[in-house]
Amino acid sequence: MLDFYELQTDEHTQIAEFYENLDDDRLTTTQCTDCGEIHFPPRIVCPECTSDDLEYVNLPHEGELFAFSEVRGGLPLGLSEHDVPYVVAAVDLGPVMLSARIDDAAYDDLEIGDPVSLKIVEIDGPTDHERVFYRFEPKEESSA
Ligand SMILES: [Zn+2]
Repeated sequence: MLDFYELQTDEHTQIAEFYENLDDDRLTTTQCTDCGEIHFPPRIVCPECTSDDLEYVNLPHEGELFAFSEVRGGLPLGLSEHDVPYVVAAVDLGPVMLSARIDDAAYDDLEIGDPVSLKIVEIDGPTDHERVFYRFEPKEESSA
């Protein structure tokens, strides 16, 4: 996960732009301007061709559940037992696949292929600085 940075400013992480965009309601990642590869998580050097000529591009805010699981224990630092159970999933956004927490959904209510949409949350951190992170939630079903 990308949220282990105590601070999301450019003094502390070289992918600060990712967090700035997220704070601006945009999910972005890096694309190599030399070979065209889209990375996730964002990179500072292209793993395909080692170019450092990367630019931030918008990612879709909606995707599909590729796989999911329920977390009941073995919690990452910062979470407590009243956070469980929760659902984590691999979300297929098209250009990239990423793992994220799925909010507002119970494991039993989900199926592979379900549409999900981006949810940007503020997270508590070890500092007073504002931090943001991404999650997904089930997409509202349009009445068919
Ligand atoms: Zn490249």
